[in-house]
Amino acid sequence: MQDPGDTPVILWFRKDLRLGDNRALVHAAATGRPVIPLYIHEPNNGPLGRAQCWWLHHSLVALGRSLERLGSRLILRSGPPQAVLSTLIAESGATEVLWNRRYDPDGIESDSVLKAALRGDGITAHSFSGQLLHEPSRMKTGTGGFYRVYTPFWRAFENSGEPEEPLQPPTAMPAPDVWPDTETLDDWRLLPTTPDWAAEFRNVWTPGEVGARRRLQDFVSGGLQGYAIRRDFPAEPHVSMLSPHLALGEISPAQIWHATRGLAGDVPVEDVTSFRKELVWREFSYHLLFHFPELPRRNFSEKFGGFPWRSDPDGLRRWQRGETGYPIVDAGMRQLWQTGWMHNRVRMIVASFLVKDLLIDWREGESWFRDTLVDADPASNAASWQWVSGSGADAAPFFRIFNPVSQGEKFDPEGAYVRKFVPELARLDTRYIHRPFEAPAAVLAKAGIDLGKTYPQPVVDHKMARERALAAFRGLAVSS
Ligand code: FAD
Repeated sequence: MQDPGDTPVILWFRKDLRLGDNRALVHAAATGRPVIPLYIHEPNNGPLGRAQCWWLHHSLVALGRSLERLGSRLILRSGPPQAVLSTLIAESGATEVLWNRRYDPDGIESDSVLKAALRGDGITAHSFSGQLLHEPSRMKTGTGGFYRVYTPFWRAFENSGEPEEPLQPPTAMPAPDVWPDTETLDDWRLLPTTPDWAAEFRNVWTPGEVGARRRLQDFVSGGLQGYAIRRDFPAEPHVSMLSPHLALGEISPAQIWHATRGLAGDVPVEDVTSFRKELVWREFSYHLLFHFPELPRRNFSEKFGGFPWRSDPDGLRRWQRGETGYPIVDAGMRQLWQTGWMHNRVRMIVASFLVKDLLIDWREGESWFRDTLVDADPASNAASWQWVSGSGADAAPFFRIFNPVSQGEKFDPEGAYVRKFVPELARLDTRYIHRPFEAPAAVLAKAGIDLGKTYPQPVVDHKMARERALAAFRGLAVSS
């Protein structure tokens, strides 16, 4: 019989694949008891899309190595969490399970059921904060409700005090006498094989905590300067690209927040504030999801319930493949396909194009992004799609419709971004780079473009599409 003081503690990793600023991990190490770090591969990859599965594979490799440096290991098991945990508890004699909280509706629901079941079996179960800067339930309006508008949320956030200091990782982690069996990552088949559509991902990303920290340092000492204005230009290196690291918790928002402290002098304060405001958009998205759990499925604004979305499988396919004939849209969709990520300005343009030019339901876009983004996030993805569509909280009005040509000319004036991701247009005169369909035949011929063959004609005429969208919206306003 084991002395209760020596029974193992199970440390269950989920969207917190890091050692730094990890409350559950620090707590586990501080017990002084043997710790069994565990990752559970939930059925159907849990809620993860295919691009994020690629990331998860590499992130777990990195986490396993970091744990080994502490004298520990990462145990991999697959199945429904409750069944996996009870088997591991029976095998190891563990009496305590620790984890960091998640805030998506399915996660909240299954964690509370699980916690009650574990406690019913006499197992201590504790959860900790760390995925967000502040708990989403903490921010309340003057009347005790939740915020639907970002600016007052930001003000309330500013008034609620500095986010807590990040915690240092432990220097060692006590190991159990006998390690439980582990599955192997290869068993889980998280990586694509034929075709290996993630081949290019490796050139862009280094999943794992070390890669995340390096990206943060590079950004703080480089791209952050100028962020407030240049963050809208997709060919420029003025955004952090930290989102996939945040999505699986390889870095905490508190680590990012505090890394931008005390830079005064080196980086203008407006750049730091603007960057922090974006981090707080992430918090706001979780705040909305927490209070409106149907956000990924249902229009936040009831008014959109009867919106006359079109069924257009060909248009949807051309949008997904980056073959709409609008260069900035196609560049964005191909950046997504090649790298699993897309610049924020271009996300807004492609989303507007799907919803307003093609009049396709935003849920089609949300679902495609969920599957193809390495940073797919249940809160930010749903809130942003609804924001662009006009159906969300504090959304851009539906009648504000992006013109894909003028957006391209404004934010990619030399066409550098388009030339990179749509190489068949690389030699086109800058005057026509965002409107090849208006280029004279001689200009196209000089650039080696045969419109309709080497690069598509526009899938829809923007002027007509704009009128069509406005008419649909007006119909909605009349009928509601
Ligand atoms: P930076 O500009 O460096 O910002 C730093 C961090 O702030 C980001 O990593 C992110 O965590 C947060 N942030 C920045 N902008 C936003 C925003 N508008 N909303 C919420 N958080 C933000 N972001 C996701 O993380 N996952 C998604 O699935 C996602 N889907 C989106 C879908 C659409 C249609 C749109 C328009 C935006 C979406 N975003 C999503 C928000 C935003 O585009 C990305 O967070 C951002 O592009 C990530 O790049 P970055 O890390 O370089 O951002």
